[in-house]
Amino acid sequence: MDRTLVEQIVRQVAVEYLGRNGKGPAPTLTVMASARHMHVCREDMDVLFGPGTELTVYKDLYQAGNFAANEKVTIIGPRSRLISNLRILGPMRKQSQIELAFTDAIMLGFDDLPVRLSGNLAGTPGAIIMGPKGTIQLKEGIIRAAIHVHMNPAEAAFFGVKQGDKMKLRVGGPAGVTFNQIHVRIDPASRLNVHMDTDEANACGLHLTKDIELIK
Ligand SMILES: [Zn+2]
Repeated sequence: MDRTLVEQIVRQVAVEYLGRNGKGPAPTLTVMASARHMHVCREDMDVLFGPGTELTVYKDLYQAGNFAANEKVTIIGPRSRLISNLRILGPMRKQSQIELAFTDAIMLGFDDLPVRLSGNLAGTPGAIIMGPKGTIQLKEGIIRAAIHVHMNPAEAAFFGVKQGDKMKLRVGGPAGVTFNQIHVRIDPASRLNVHMDTDEANACGLHLTKDIELIK
């Protein structure tokens, strides 16, 4: 038996054990709010920060290999309003993308910004992006990120879900909000983790509650 397989089995047992002894989902569920941010491609990085420049790590994120970078840009929306200090998340990607909360979008003049899964950018609006060394006109890539849950195959088996399924996230507290469209994204490198934006987090009082349940 190779080592990867052993590790997968260990992980699966651990999740099942937690599930049998607790109520509902595994207690290791974490829910995080992503503040507005940009993902940048090599080509745009060259223009915004200078040829050959690299992103530098400000803070590692929960999912292995992902980080908040020190580098920031300014986005100029359709009504010439702008948001500065928009942080870039690394590593670099194939295509640049900017994820905004609904409030950010409306403030900038995007009244009907599409809700998309990361990377699904066809037909989305663009914007002017200013960096310290140059400016680009993004043709597309401005989105509201669809609320989603990252998990590995063992965690998916625990919940009985597959790639592309939708789950519910119930958040207790005074508002008592349940999100009904949590997109399931399965990757062997992932840890169980729901990503929502700051508007969604504020609507459900995420930082005030521990009463959270992921439901198939
Ligand atoms: Zn995510």
